[in-house]
Amino acid sequence: MEKEDSLGLVQIYTGNGKGKTTAALGLAVRAAGHNLKIAIIQFMKMWDYGEVKSLRRLGIDLFRYGTSGFVDSKNPSPIDLEQADKALSKAEELIEKGDYDILILDEVNVALDFKLIPLKRVIDLLDKKPDNLELVLTGRNCPQELIERAHLVSVIDEIKHPFQKGIEARKGIEF
Ligand code: ATP
Ligand code: MG
Repeated sequence: MEKEDSLGLVQIYTGNGKGKTTAALGLAVRAAGHNLKIAIIQFMKMWDYGEVKSLRRLGIDLFRYGTSGFVDSKNPSPIDLEQADKALSKAEELIEKGDYDILILDEVNVALDFKLIPLKRVIDLLDKKPDNLELVLTGRNCPQELIERAHLVSVIDEIKHPFQKGIEARKGIEF
């Protein structure tokens, strides 16, 4: 890989600290400045996140799946399972079509950790993706099998978070 515009690696942002999704969004903002075609699929997310409007302005395609509630990791509801399946099916469809330069699967690691989707289907995505598609996976507790297959893995640790001091999620910062 010599050309400075070569894409096609698998990146993972995981860990318990804040900054995984925003790192992926930052990457998308940077890539959009070079007119790359970017899609973001968000698993388990239907809140009023600021990026929904911002991404639209930048021409970045966003597909969101989930419910407005929390997923019970021990006992996910049928709707949670269905929404996660739809999100993964969308990823499979976009990879099949091959129209994008960068595909970000936001919180896919959490969907795997909660067993909403089978690991095999995500591994298949990595195997089948177009050679020049940069694939980014975010979320806590990334499975080791994906870490082994990725080219870039950043683990964001929690040293401090204002939540520990009782400061709740702030508009424009946490959502
Ligand atoms: P962000 O979306 O801000 O980049 P993230 O993707 O790293 O955060 P997630 O694990 O997806 O974090 O967390 C979901 C929500 O909880 C986000 O609103 C995030 O800002 C917030 N958050 C992240 N880390 C922590 C933490 N250690 N304690 C409390 N809340 C957190
Ligand atoms: Mg996140």
